[in-house]
Amino acid sequence: MKSHVRVAVIGGGVVGCSVLYHLTKLGWKDVVLLERDELTCGSTWHAAGGMHTLNGDPNVAKLQKYTIELYKEIEEISGQSCGVHLPGGLVLAGTAERMDWIRMAEARSRYLGLDAHVVSIDEAARRMPLLDKKYFVGALYDPLEGHLDPSGTTYAYAKAATKQGAEIYRKTKVEDLQQRADGGWGIVTNQGTIVAEHVVNCAGLWAREVGRMVGLELPVLAMEHQYLITEDIPGLPAEELPHLIDFEGEIYLRQERKGVLLGTYEHNGVPWSPKQTPWDFSAELLPPDLDRISNNLEVGFRHFPALANAGIKRIINGPFTFAPDGNPLVGPVRGLRNYWVACGVMAGFSQGGGVGLALSNWMIDGDPGFDVFAMDVARYGDWATLAYTNAKVRENYGRRFRVTFPNEELTAGRPLRTSPLYDRMKVANAVFGASFGLEYPLWYAPPGTDAVEEITFHRSNAHAHVADECRAVRTGVGMIETSGYAKYEVVGPGAEEFLSYVLANRMPPVGRIVLAPMLNHNGKLIGDFTVARVNADTFHVFGSGPAEHYHMRWWESLLPATGVTIRSLRSTLMGLSIAGPNSRDLLASVTREDLSTEAFPFMSYRCIDVGMVPAFVGRISFTGDLGYELWVTPDYHVALYDTLVTAGAAFGLRHVGLRALNSMRLEKAFGTWAREYRPIYGPYEAGLGRFVNLKKGDFIGREAALLDKESGGKLKLVTLLVEEFGADVVGDEPVAYDGKTVGWVTSGGYAHWIGKSVALAYVPAELAQRNNVFAIEVLGAPRRATLSSEAPFDPAGTRMRA
Ligand SMILES: Cc1cc2nc3c(=O)[nH]c(=O)nc-3n(C[C@H](O)[C@H](O)[C@H](O)COP(=O)(O)OP(=O)(O)OC[C@H]3O[C@@H](n4cnc5c(N)ncnc54)[C@H](O)[C@@H]3O)c2cc1C
Repeated sequence: MKSHVRVAVIGGGVVGCSVLYHLTKLGWKDVVLLERDELTCGSTWHAAGGMHTLNGDPNVAKLQKYTIELYKEIEEISGQSCGVHLPGGLVLAGTAERMDWIRMAEARSRYLGLDAHVVSIDEAARRMPLLDKKYFVGALYDPLEGHLDPSGTTYAYAKAATKQGAEIYRKTKVEDLQQRADGGWGIVTNQGTIVAEHVVNCAGLWAREVGRMVGLELPVLAMEHQYLITEDIPGLPAEELPHLIDFEGEIYLRQERKGVLLGTYEHNGVPWSPKQTPWDFSAELLPPDLDRISNNLEVGFRHFPALANAGIKRIINGPFTFAPDGNPLVGPVRGLRNYWVACGVMAGFSQGGGVGLALSNWMIDGDPGFDVFAMDVARYGDWATLAYTNAKVRENYGRRFRVTFPNEELTAGRPLRTSPLYDRMKVANAVFGASFGLEYPLWYAPPGTDAVEEITFHRSNAHAHVADECRAVRTGVGMIETSGYAKYEVVGPGAEEFLSYVLANRMPPVGRIVLAPMLNHNGKLIGDFTVARVNADTFHVFGSGPAEHYHMRWWESLLPATGVTIRSLRSTLMGLSIAGPNSRDLLASVTREDLSTEAFPFMSYRCIDVGMVPAFVGRISFTGDLGYELWVTPDYHVALYDTLVTAGAAFGLRHVGLRALNSMRLEKAFGTWAREYRPIYGPYEAGLGRFVNLKKGDFIGREAALLDKESGGKLKLVTLLVEEFGADVVGDEPVAYDGKTVGWVTSGGYAHWIGKSVALAYVPAELAQRNNVFAIEVLGAPRRATLSSEAPFDPAGTRMRA
């Protein structure tokens, strides 16, 4: 065993071997893999080996496509077969809602360059003669679907990596990890200690335990999973059956030799080793429990009658891990130098290649090279505890083949984090959503009615109430709970210099606010902030709540040793915002401050008394209207609310939720992080060029931003007015021009005040011409979408500045 290496990958499942392969492929040869027993002995060896490109997040879907296309390459390099079969796959739908979902998936696949398409049930039955047509109404066919040999594939990665310079140490169990002063790791194993610059936790079923070696509680949980293999079924066609997902039965199946492999994700799934994975578990299976999946099997036997008579040859019950949302956990871990993770990969044969590539890019170039936020380990915070993870993973497991509607809020693990206003918002009949563990009002149901939203691809029962909330803001005043924003305090004599280096705009003078995008070294958008200066050395920075760890990780990696500190105010600064033409009069009625535009202009920030409450108040509003954001410590939150509600009665104050805020920001063409602003877009493409100050001196991404400015960028973020069809665009739909897919929607919805359906979308810059007409594919049909060259609501911004 070597004594010093650049990278030590812990774990020889399919994921660790893929990481090892990609590191060597991208040029890092001094890399080793440490495996406690034999390769594949965790969850990899007993996998069903299925692979597909379907994923709720298009960026993950792209990496799944990459994975499936990679197998040829590793077979060639290693000389080891992966046993790939690609008979294609069918997703069957039995209801109108599921057909809506299938059409949405078809449209998404188009802009991802995939070829999944809707087929009739007759066509599905032609490809899959075992199905009984009467249970289904249509299907999605994807030619890039199939299965492989899990063990062969893992060995193909491993052999290809060793041919390219890596070494693999079997029977080498990592027992402890000790951070060294130089940032590297002392890795204590049962075979001695090895020093590595970087460690990668690919420990699969033991990822949580390897995390605990460094004080990290990763949100992963293993679930028991069962599939069975039937005896031979007479009369199977000569051509291999396609893979199949049956939404109604919540089962998957494929051909296995002359029989069928059938698996299910039952509703009451059972976690395995919920607190501690045993170290002596290796290449083992769990006792089967057919009773647990008997309901699903019954449906399966009805839908595929030939299976009812086929004997069962084998039942597999094995554990594999999930993160709370079912996507992998990948990337560097905030607060730990040179400690990387690639775990929680529940579909190793669809995702392992993409995970290995993204992580290797990240380690070598400092950037994953793709938009991987959906699988970034930083999307979870300390609120994702063991018990939260347990609740969410069980929920997600049971919903594996359920349709999640665009307006659906899942209920497990809630409420967890609540602001001090939670009970008051409940009394006001709020319908809640949750983000980063925090409950926030989506909209308010009328008094005396159930605060419940029906889930749908169309407009829900919330529509009319959200319209009322928007009207209240545009004509009077509305109040929005904003505690879910990320909030940071940056303090010290070096604070301005630091912020000026990490953000693209010039920092504001005391008492003022600026908007500032954040770029990575390639000049792409990795954040978008509101920065307020409290005094010479103190700034309050506001950003996207769910990106808090993502941003803190970035800042902490750049922070100088002295002169500036940065801390999250997530739970120590609570927010309320009031907006609308009456918002100034309302605020003026409870403060002695002069709020006239001369004394307190747009983009001002100051600590003032609101009633008895000392509050930081910024004159800014995401509604695009006259408005104020008020920030207080939690002990004042209720008093602030009560003060505004009491005084607000005279001004017609109305509670307003996030759905209305979204509607108003859409008609104002305001983008938002994770939708319009992501690491695949430059600031000029995203329309944020006016907040990039190229004259202020050096900042991260400046060179690339300069080039972006000169070229104008390849894409442009545009606002499209969509024809009325009784539903709205939600995001990720393809945008076509002249019959060709040219772009995609980032977000959409109904803009209630202007009375139009609106979409924000990226299209090629040369097509971003006034009144150009595009087609957005929604619910299976193209909808006419006309480019609006300016924000549909108040393009000059006079309302905000009034
Ligand atoms: C029944 C079943 C069916 C499945 N079907 C499919 C499917 O059809 N398609 C699909 O894509 N996926 C499927 N999966 C999931 C798939 O198996 C996983 O996604 C995949 O195996 C994850 O691989 P991994 O490398 O992350 O973890 P693992 O395979 O668990 O590998 C982790 C490795 O790390 C080693 N290790 C752990 N701790 C240490 C340590 N301290 N020191 C050294 N080594 C250590 C372990 O020994 C192990 O070899 C299925 C899983 C099951 C259980």
